[in-house]
Amino acid sequence: MSEVAVRERRLRTAGPEDTAQLGTRLAGRAIAGDLLCLWGALGAGKTVFAKGFGAGLGVTDTITSPTFVLMAEYAGRLPLFHLDLFRLADASDAYASGLIDDRQAAGVTLIEWPERMIGTLPARRLDVVFDGVDEDVRQITLRAGAVDLARYLDAA
Ligand code: ADP
Ligand code: MG
Repeated sequence: MSEVAVRERRLRTAGPEDTAQLGTRLAGRAIAGDLLCLWGALGAGKTVFAKGFGAGLGVTDTITSPTFVLMAEYAGRLPLFHLDLFRLADASDAYASGLIDDRQAAGVTLIEWPERMIGTLPARRLDVVFDGVDEDVRQITLRAGAVDLARYLDAA
């Protein structure tokens, strides 16, 4: 028999501070090996969320949107790996799969533009989907790809 658990939660944030705070709260639930995929258009709030998440992990360095670096690593309670694949226009699966490696098992990985490596994304991930509602309001849907990741939903 398959297990049925609540795996999805939808909420709204009223501005960037709200979205950052959501990230900070979720970071409190992070354990080593977690993967969060941040889906949404340019300006949807993915990096705002990532900055808040980093703060919640105790990262003191400034989290930016790296233009030419696909992955940045930050020290915190757990190492934070922040990938922004926007510029990875046509990744072959072989290349994309190299972006997730053993080192990340020791930390938490956030991926902006995960669609760039859709063929190689692990199923065990938390999807965070950002939709613009109006200028300052975002609808954010959390979807846990595994039962244990539902722990993030309680923190939202
Ligand atoms: P992305 O990384 O998804 O391209 P950013 O996080 O860099 O987007 O930028 C989001 C922009 O939207 C910022 O300028 C931020 O101030 C603005 N914004 C307005 N309302 C919100 C909200 N509710 N959550 C997040 N960002 C918001
Ligand atoms: Mg961004």
